[in-house]
Amino acid sequence: MELPHPIRLAMLGRQGAGKGTQCVRLSHYFAIPHISTGDMLRAAVRANSPFGQKASEFMERGELVSDDVITGVVSERLAESDARARGFVLDGYPRTVVQAAALQEILAPAGLFAVVDLDVPLDIVKARLSSRRVCSVCGANYSSEVPTQMEGICDVCGGEVVQRPDDTEEAISRRLALYEEMTRPLEDYYRELGLLEVIDGTGALDAVTDRILLALRSRGMEGRVFRG
Ligand code: ADP
Ligand code: ZN
Repeated sequence: MELPHPIRLAMLGRQGAGKGTQCVRLSHYFAIPHISTGDMLRAAVRANSPFGQKASEFMERGELVSDDVITGVVSERLAESDARARGFVLDGYPRTVVQAAALQEILAPAGLFAVVDLDVPLDIVKARLSSRRVCSVCGANYSSEVPTQMEGICDVCGGEVVQRPDDTEEAISRRLALYEEMTRPLEDYYRELGLLEVIDGTGALDAVTDRILLALRSRGMEGRVFRG
């Protein structure tokens, strides 16, 4: 049986644009790993490794960890067999032009299939971030629109649901400012490579997923879907 080509995706979009949710959906649809640098860093923080301790200082202030460090983590993950064989959807990487260039090198000669840029207006993401709560065990997301069934308890795993330490007002505005400064330039970077798909990220989650799949379909993704 001939295997389809791997599908390699990256997702851009402001904090609170819904990248995580849409990435999980794409990872199920294509049966590819969802590689979230934020989740990987939070796992390191929970494990309290020396690396995690260092990273948490940056994360709590809303600052970025260094390009070298995060690129090392991502390149190790991309070298694993699932990502090599099937592809991946990257969530939270690249976030700077330096990281994007590093990713091009890691993936050469193949490169990304497409970059999905979830576009959501500032006032909407601010409202989402300030009401966001996350499971401290499994990372599931909740908000005023999607509350837990029992106050403070994760529907999925029963873990404690808390506010992320970097969802304070101060850290939120720092992260959003850094997005404009460091990550926004990636739109031009990927537009020039012919990879950018800007997707309206407002409205129902299903509608957003449909828009993404439609855009990927127009790029010929069907040959890349694993069946069975
Ligand atoms: P958000 O996009 O809402 O900031 P993430 O969960 O993607 O949340 O990331 C949380 C934090 O982890 C970031 O604020 C940053 O400190 C760090 N981080 C994640 N990805 C990267 C990256 N590619 N480069 C540098 N720092 C990163
Ligand atoms: Zn949970």
